[in-house]
Amino acid sequence: MHEFRYVNGELNCEQVPIRSLVEKYGTPLYVYSQKTFSDHFKKLDQALGALDHQICYALKANSNLAVLRTLVNAGSGFDIVSEGELRRVIAAGGNPKLCVFAGVGKTAREIEFALKKGIYSFNVESEAELVRINQIAGKLGKKAPIAIRVNPNIDAHTHAKITTGTYANKFGIAFEEIESIYARAAKLKNLKLRGLQMHIGSQLTEVEPFEQAVKKVLPLATRLAPKYNLEFFSIGGGLGIIYDNALASGSSDWWQKPEAKNLLNPEKYAATLVPLLKPLSLKILIEPGRFISGNSGVLVTRVEYVKQTGKKNFVIVDAAMNDLIRPAFYDSFHQIIPLRKSKAKEISSDVVGPICESGDFFAKDRMLPKVGEGDFLALLSAGAYGFVMASNYNSRGLAAEVLVNGNKGAVVRERQNLDDIWSSERIPKWLIA
Ligand SMILES: *Cc1c(COP(=O)(O)O)cnc(C)c1O
Repeated sequence: MHEFRYVNGELNCEQVPIRSLVEKYGTPLYVYSQKTFSDHFKKLDQALGALDHQICYALKANSNLAVLRTLVNAGSGFDIVSEGELRRVIAAGGNPKLCVFAGVGKTAREIEFALKKGIYSFNVESEAELVRINQIAGKLGKKAPIAIRVNPNIDAHTHAKITTGTYANKFGIAFEEIESIYARAAKLKNLKLRGLQMHIGSQLTEVEPFEQAVKKVLPLATRLAPKYNLEFFSIGGGLGIIYDNALASGSSDWWQKPEAKNLLNPEKYAATLVPLLKPLSLKILIEPGRFISGNSGVLVTRVEYVKQTGKKNFVIVDAAMNDLIRPAFYDSFHQIIPLRKSKAKEISSDVVGPICESGDFFAKDRMLPKVGEGDFLALLSAGAYGFVMASNYNSRGLAAEVLVNGNKGAVVRERQNLDDIWSSERIPKWLIA
């Protein structure tokens, strides 16, 4: 469920008509619902209530400071993948002691910074990384808390660019090697073995792959936990969201509808996994990113031109792949609706941005109500892997972001000034003389 719906024919975020935000702050504009972030967090938190657990929001999905603060206030920890992300968490008022550090390429500098800040665990992805963390911890006179990421070799049946849990992926350590790696890690004296971790992929819309992975790794966790005095088992993130009927999924009874019967939701996730995990008596961590932020944001764009070629109706908008790269990168689907509910005849349209790339599109051959110059469109479910993947390609400034809470809205990131795009670039003297 989310907080984007039509009220008197105008698309609202919570109680704010999005048009009023667009008139004030311009387009392209990301608009986020604070209530949706915290509701999604709470839903998952409650569903896991029977377990000793901690949600560590994966901030790579959406790391705006205001979003992080919303989740800090809800009690979230964080899954970080860089020093920058840890600094963001701290800047937002989050607690490093609730942070886990993931990723295959942690640099010495990043490890040192995270150790000094006292993070909860490094989720280690190779033996070389174990050795490096041990060495840096020794230098600092600290014990580094670690978990090893097990690759369970389970196919998550998701898009190739977001599947992580098979041996064809760069992530984790093979299931069969885990016990010997723990034995070796236990001999490194500057490490504290704290947990076991896995993450099999993103945008999973069925519970079965999670169930398979947990069932496969559970006996391993059961053996390792007493042997090394482990505290936690992290089952990763990856819970998928609804993209293709995103507007409907905002209604409170959506989960009960027949078309949603087979979709993953927190209740089903918990009903399947909690009974498996409960007997383990470890703290259970989960690292959802998309589930919390995906349906919490939209990207609003203005129609600049409508162009009919012999074959197609092109709707050319002022947002582009530099603002939201998901369609180009993952072939992903975003539902597109006008800010003002339209009764106009639907026609097959391609919604495209102004960038000189054929990949710069948001929808192809999509039935959309006829629109014209100056109309506004909302791309739904843009709260995860949206703004965070934005770039300055074509020297386009980064979009502004607005957070709505009830009947209030605030800019939580200013639109980037164009001068700022090249402000750190330099022309060497020899070119000027
Ligand atoms: C990306 C990632 C997540 C979050 O994935 P979502 O699909 O957004 O829930 C969690 N854990 C790890 C290790 C990740 O790399």
